[in-house]
Amino acid sequence: MANTYNPYENMLRVLESAARQLGLKPSDYEAIKYPERELKVAIPVRMDSGEIKVFEGYRVQHSSSRGPCKGGIRYHQQVDIDEVKALAAWMTFKCAVVNIPYGGAKGAVKVDPSHLSNAELERVTRRFTAAILPIIGPEKDIPAPDVNTNAEVMGWIMDTYSMIHGYAVPGVVTGKPLEIGGSLGRPEATGRGVSIITQEILKRLNMPEKGVRIAIQGMGNVGGVSAKLLHEMGHKIVAVSDARGGLYHPEGLDIPAALKYMAAHGGSLEGYAGGGAANISNAELLACDCDALIPCALENQITEANANAVQAKLIVEGANGPTTVEADGILTGKGVTIVPDILANAGGVVVSYFEWVQNIQELTWEEDQINETLRKVLINSFSQVLNIVNESKVSFRVAAYMLAISKLVKAKKSRGVFP
Ligand code: GLU
Repeated sequence: MANTYNPYENMLRVLESAARQLGLKPSDYEAIKYPERELKVAIPVRMDSGEIKVFEGYRVQHSSSRGPCKGGIRYHQQVDIDEVKALAAWMTFKCAVVNIPYGGAKGAVKVDPSHLSNAELERVTRRFTAAILPIIGPEKDIPAPDVNTNAEVMGWIMDTYSMIHGYAVPGVVTGKPLEIGGSLGRPEATGRGVSIITQEILKRLNMPEKGVRIAIQGMGNVGGVSAKLLHEMGHKIVAVSDARGGLYHPEGLDIPAALKYMAAHGGSLEGYAGGGAANISNAELLACDCDALIPCALENQITEANANAVQAKLIVEGANGPTTVEADGILTGKGVTIVPDILANAGGVVVSYFEWVQNIQELTWEEDQINETLRKVLINSFSQVLNIVNESKVSFRVAAYMLAISKLVKAKKSRGVFP
């Protein structure tokens, strides 16, 4: 995202401090610092006008130590390789924190999908899939949705991969449409996970289990579902936003009405009056009067430039990498609790894992089973991280990294170094 803050450097800094806490020697975790494989591809696409345009794409596989690589594909005009490398590493740590048998990966295409027709989007997706085809597969690397990609895009990936192999391979991607092997509960899983983790941390902080004033940045798949579920749990969602700006209401917004409006207006909040709510910018949302802030948009939203203005006492990271290392230091210094991305937004990849398990076993689970198992996995991981917070007197972020790194280091040790 036109990063002044390099997310890969950010990731390395947190990794170093967690490794220090664990008392590791640099040689114990040296290999974790580097992605196993980085692939950059050119994607020539015939546009509707007949003209050929070439887009740039990436797939970075950070680690396969604990299992196949796993992680989403995002479409964004400002993506760069360091961002994808950081996102891939975060997937490795996330899968280790929630103890699912995957490594981490991430992919991206440098494109603004709002400038493409649906047919162009399909051609970009199919050509990108063909370009990364040698390194993906149900046993190698399994993509999923991320920023600006969805079930329809996953369907095209599954079809392209399957056509080239000559048979249906549903397990090559997760987050697919239900009809071709998608899982019940997957579209809501990340937001559901955010709401479960929010409820857990509220309990531990002795904050009320209802009526907490929450601001949510981003009303896409993660922010929208988080807003819906936290509102249903009885919290006051005082602010929401999308890329264009947002709304603030001190008494809480009517979230079902906002979501209904968005569904009828191409997923945008623009023009929504919101029953007396004030129009605010994204910068104002981050600094608004609230108890908890849940950033669900992009990286590097909370930086040293605005961290001091944050009024929330609790931040739950629905997005990947929304807080820079400097901002993290300022906020932690002010006594703000931050539940990091690699725990807070892990619900998506957990249900991706359930989807993949259903695909390779050729059976289906019921939605209740999925949601209940997701809850158990997240609550269990949350309490493991909390134990480290209490024992080592570190932040939730460092504790989550410590949990992830110790698992990775053990996995690497068990496998040894080839050759
Ligand atoms: N893109 C999501 C994430 O950042 C989901 C990844 C997946 O399901 O593989 O966690």
